Amino acid sequence: SVQKNVGKISLEQIDSLAGKSFPLCMRQLHQALRDQHHLRHGGRMQYGLFLKGIGLSLEQALQFWRMEFIRGKVDADKFDKAYAYSIRHMFGKEGKRADYTPYSCMKVILSNPPSQGDYHGCPFRHSDPELLKQKLQSYKVSPSGVSQILELVKGMHYQLACQKYFELTHNQVEDTSFSLSHPNQYFTESQKVLG
Ligand code: SF4
Repeated sequence: SVQKNVGKISLEQIDSLAGKSFPLCMRQLHQALRDQHHLRHGGRMQYGLFLKGIGLSLEQALQFWRMEFIRGKVDADKFDKAYAYSIRHMFGKEGKRADYTPYSCMKVILSNPPSQGDYHGCPFRHSDPELLKQKLQSYKVSPSGVSQILELVKGMHYQLACQKYFELTHNQVEDTSFSLSHPNQYFTESQKVLG
């Protein structure tokens, strides 16, 4: 179950985890949320379920999203009326009470492409290659690493590009021993290496 990790992380850890152990898709969502104090529905679903998967409890999730949203244009009252429901829903506490699972890479790559003003999706699939290149450079990926990643992207091997990024940022000279299929798997593998 995705809830097996509950209680393993604190909200204070999220910024540092985002920098070292989140895949690019989630790092991008986290950054956008911190910068804009808001995410649209597609972003809240993709990121919210990922956070649930790494172990945020419902109470932590409510606190996390409320804290950030009320720094922006949403006051606490509006947050409780308009957004808290959908977070409880994600945890299966409302509506059909389904226990929603975090999205796989295939789902992120193939469904609900981001529009202007959205930050969800897979950066290897949905970012303009030039912007992706700049982002990788700003994350200190070597020039040869950047070319290798862009080559994989060009061949539409998005998950392999992501896995290459993992290798390059976890000092793994040899190929990784896993085959990437899920953002939460990326996180778990990263934590195994970095602790
Ligand atoms: Fe996220 Fe998967 Fe894309 Fe990597 S390949 S950025 S984990 S959706």
